[in-house]
Amino acid sequence: MSAKRFCLHSLGCKVNQAEAAHLADELTALGWTRVPEARRGDLAVLLTCAVTASASRQSRQMARRLARVAGPESVVASGCGVQAEAQAYLAEGVIVVGRAELAQLARIIDRQAWPEQGPPPPPDAGAFCMGALQPGELRGRGLLKVQDGCNAGCAYCIVPATRGRPRSLPLAQAVAAFRGMAQAGAQEIVLTGIHLGRWGLDLAGKPRLAELLEAMLAADDRPRLRLSSLESHEIEPRLVQLAAAEPRLCPHFHLPLQSGDDRVLKAMGRPYSAAQYAQVVRDLAAALPSPCLGADVLVGLPGEDHAAHRQTLELLESLPISYLHVFPYSPRPGTRAVEMPGRPSGHEVGQRAAVLRRLGQAKHLAFLRSRIGRRLEVVVEGGGLGRSADYCLVTLEHGPPPGERLSVLAGELIETPRGPGLRGQPVA
Ligand code: SF4
Repeated sequence: MSAKRFCLHSLGCKVNQAEAAHLADELTALGWTRVPEARRGDLAVLLTCAVTASASRQSRQMARRLARVAGPESVVASGCGVQAEAQAYLAEGVIVVGRAELAQLARIIDRQAWPEQGPPPPPDAGAFCMGALQPGELRGRGLLKVQDGCNAGCAYCIVPATRGRPRSLPLAQAVAAFRGMAQAGAQEIVLTGIHLGRWGLDLAGKPRLAELLEAMLAADDRPRLRLSSLESHEIEPRLVQLAAAEPRLCPHFHLPLQSGDDRVLKAMGRPYSAAQYAQVVRDLAAALPSPCLGADVLVGLPGEDHAAHRQTLELLESLPISYLHVFPYSPRPGTRAVEMPGRPSGHEVGQRAAVLRRLGQAKHLAFLRSRIGRRLEVVVEGGGLGRSADYCLVTLEHGPPPGERLSVLAGELIETPRGPGLRGQPVA
């Protein structure tokens, strides 16, 4: 291998992004230089994804492409895709490192001490893998991983098999990481995890997420905090009280619904009813002055019929939801849903997803319109765009540098390169 040069690619979720960024920082500290694209002789590191068939395919294709460019012996693949189908990566001749060794990957790379090549050990057999993306030239907001793994066992989800049981970054370490990012200038830090609402349950004394947030907000009075996805049934009163009282906790909750039909929710193994979910959304809308409430919907689980789809649609129409993320069901090997009968046709799934996406777009536009004329606090993300605390995309003329935080008056609705947003006029 040439002069300790590496490129690093990650696919999939924010947790993968945060892990990749932390790995890049560790390699840099060990004297490696990051390059945007690998050439022959450079090391190419790939953190793969397996959440859908398409993400798995893209991950394998990326491994193949990197192997062509850098040589297979110079490609190191890890992450959920490798954990789910190591054989496919081994067949490409690339070096595989299981998730259990991801926390040590920088040292493994530096010493070229590759683990024995074969099926990886269980994903949670090693230490907690840190994940932290500092704000930089291309990104104004920081990303901090505080939780990994899940054992909820939803029927369609492969993640428990690829990341293992839930594990938390201990409170003191999480607060120290938050403080470090704040001192480096982060104006917003997004806390992320695979099952964030389970943060703390594996730690001594079982601290809850609200406690972590309070400790972070007390540790440094500058950055605002945003939470990534949280299960509706794990939102505790203390968290709602904190969100209502603390202006630095962004009034933005992303609550996976998946289905608005109780029979489908039960088949999914989701531990709540449509009515319980609706109550949480309404309670949040009542408790917070003006929240942004997003939802995920999974379309086309085997057994989802037209009536179940209507139930989902009608529930979402009735709720104060600000945007929707709609995902067609993707069968994942080894999950219970693969064995379930009654999978809707691709055509039906496409139609249902289109209907839900149209509803999501209408809700999002209505949400953005409700912000016009308001004063929003925006963190600049680059490319003349920023994010308000309530997650509106805001265009900013004269492009202030990424990472700055400023007050803007929200003007007209505008189509930005990243979707609908608002024109923002900085105010003193
Ligand atoms: S809660 Fe369900 S969908 Fe989310 S990671 Fe865990 S098993 Fe997967």
